[in-house]
Amino acid sequence: MRVPLLDLKRQYLYIRPEIDYEIAKIVMEGRYIMGPEVKQFEEEFKTYIGTTYGLGVASGTDALVIILRSIAYTLTGNEYFKKEDLIITPSFTFTATGDAILRAGATPLFIDIDARNFNLNLEAVEEILKQDKTFKKIKGIVVVHLFGNPVNMNKVLELAETYGIFVVEDCAQATGSEWEGKKVGSFGIASAFSFFPTKNLGGFGDGGFITTNSTAIYNIAKILKNHGGEDKYSATLIGYNSRLDTIQAGILKVKLRYLDQFLERRKKIAQYYDHNLKDIPFIITPLPPSPPSIHTYNQYTIRITNNNRDRVKDRLKEVGIESMVYYPIPLHKMKVFKNRSIIPTPLTTTEMICNEVLSLPIEPLLTEEELEYVVSSIKSILVY
Ligand SMILES: *Cc1c(COP(=O)(O)O)cnc(C)c1O
Repeated sequence: MRVPLLDLKRQYLYIRPEIDYEIAKIVMEGRYIMGPEVKQFEEEFKTYIGTTYGLGVASGTDALVIILRSIAYTLTGNEYFKKEDLIITPSFTFTATGDAILRAGATPLFIDIDARNFNLNLEAVEEILKQDKTFKKIKGIVVVHLFGNPVNMNKVLELAETYGIFVVEDCAQATGSEWEGKKVGSFGIASAFSFFPTKNLGGFGDGGFITTNSTAIYNIAKILKNHGGEDKYSATLIGYNSRLDTIQAGILKVKLRYLDQFLERRKKIAQYYDHNLKDIPFIITPLPPSPPSIHTYNQYTIRITNNNRDRVKDRLKEVGIESMVYYPIPLHKMKVFKNRSIIPTPLTTTEMICNEVLSLPIEPLLTEEELEYVVSSIKSILVY
């Protein structure tokens, strides 16, 4: 048997008639750039998340960069942050989170994570904010709801209020996740989503989204994504060509209708893994938040604590099961961040976790047989 991590073709075949209809319609109409589907999808997606404004952009990375530059502009009147401006973020995330901070002109301040849920350790965040109280170099925090597990937003907003910093949510992996009954992407000053094909809501190419309740951020973001001007011939800021593609918007409109059903399946798969893997030696299953908060399992990521992660991954591959290491290298070990970031205290947990994590197949349309096969294979590898 072969079990894929994700099977995008299987998902396409499941909803093929609606997708094919939508694509053919857009191709026939010929409004390939900023066609009506983009506006329609913007309306539907911001309503799903629950914010006043929604803006389609070309990628999740662009969403982060445009958000941070919009904040710089509204806070300081300058187009970019200064190098001395620090923004807290985890080092255990996808490169784009940290890269966006650099591209907005600021310096990432990497804080360690909590080994139980792979998200920022908020006690460590509080400690560093306390130390910075007199200097006020820390301007904001970019939280990442990693693998779909929502960060404790009560605590984040409380810290932001106390220490006067802004909050941006990186929701690239967490479309549909909820913190205490509210969708992530509706808490911070603005939030970034990605429609990269493997995300919870994925297109057939790149795509991204900005949600916000701030009129000021929305207005600047709209200008920045559109070549820096109200229209092409009145550029006022250094902008981008960052549009959500019309065909992607059409596909995403269809897929949004199936999103909750697919997220339900992801949660079911996670429950099955939780139940069947938790007693296997050397495996630690991920800690979900307590209800009503919701983890959407963009990745189901276990820890393998006997220093054997790579061997387990290889053995799974031998028996036809795909697994993936997200992330083998933390950002602070990458050259681009070496002299451009600050690490106030050792990132011990981050470095340990990079050697232990393994993400298992989480394709929403996996069959019972496939799931049973994954679990029995892991058992036979780790229990001898
Ligand atoms: C995927 C991802 C991004 C970037 O999204 P793209 O659409 O690929 O540009 C940013 N942050 C995190 C945490 C991601 O997983």
